[in-house]
Amino acid sequence: MNLKGYKVISGIIGCVTGLRIGGTSNTIEIGGLDNPVIKNPIDDWPYIPGSSFKGKMRSLLEWDLGVVSPNGDPHTCKDAKCVICRIFGNSEEVEKGPTRGIFRDAFLSERSKKDLQSMRETKGLVYAEIKYENRINRLKGKAEHPRPMERVPAGTEFSFEIDYRVFDINDNGNVDNQNFQWLLHGLWLLEQDALGSSGSRGYGQIKFGSYDKDNKFVPGRVLVDKHEEPIKDRYNEITGQTKRQ
Ligand SMILES: [Zn+2]
Repeated sequence: MNLKGYKVISGIIGCVTGLRIGGTSNTIEIGGLDNPVIKNPIDDWPYIPGSSFKGKMRSLLEWDLGVVSPNGDPHTCKDAKCVICRIFGNSEEVEKGPTRGIFRDAFLSERSKKDLQSMRETKGLVYAEIKYENRINRLKGKAEHPRPMERVPAGTEFSFEIDYRVFDINDNGNVDNQNFQWLLHGLWLLEQDALGSSGSRGYGQIKFGSYDKDNKFVPGRVLVDKHEEPIKDRYNEITGQTKRQ
């Protein structure tokens, strides 16, 4: 087995709606919020942990490939060529080599830092908006139990990067090169779904894209080793089957 090289997917995650990835309130302050978003403790900027990004894409791909385990635990198997286990890892003792995907934490773009900084100065909000969620009492028809939730406002942009290792396991890297298409497909799946919590309430809708030369966010394409790749449904192309019309 030897490492043939790395493929790098990079680009921008644009928040179409408010994004909430929960953090912890590790400082007790009067009037402090119970439900903050995760932030870098050094500078207070919100970020998207690589683990959240990876975990969500993994579960969406497991559903799409039909390999969700009956008890709902993350998929695991002993197939050395398994797409899920190779890209995302498992603890089975099979000679499949190391986990191929490395999901980096995604940090705010410079432009979004400026936007959030000005929101802090004008509205006193620490780099996130506060949205009140409640539930409707069915009999009284009234909203009850309002609770404040912090979220990153719509329009915020994060730079992301996924590194993918291609190993030659007596196959010249062919299996890893084929599986890489599933990783790109996973970006499309994420756009259809949501990142972070409260997706069913509209949170966490995202678009992948890149900046043009004027630093304007253009959705629809990311970079793979500096070449543009469209975000699209690749299921039929990869499998040769027509699951979706
Ligand atoms: Zn597997």
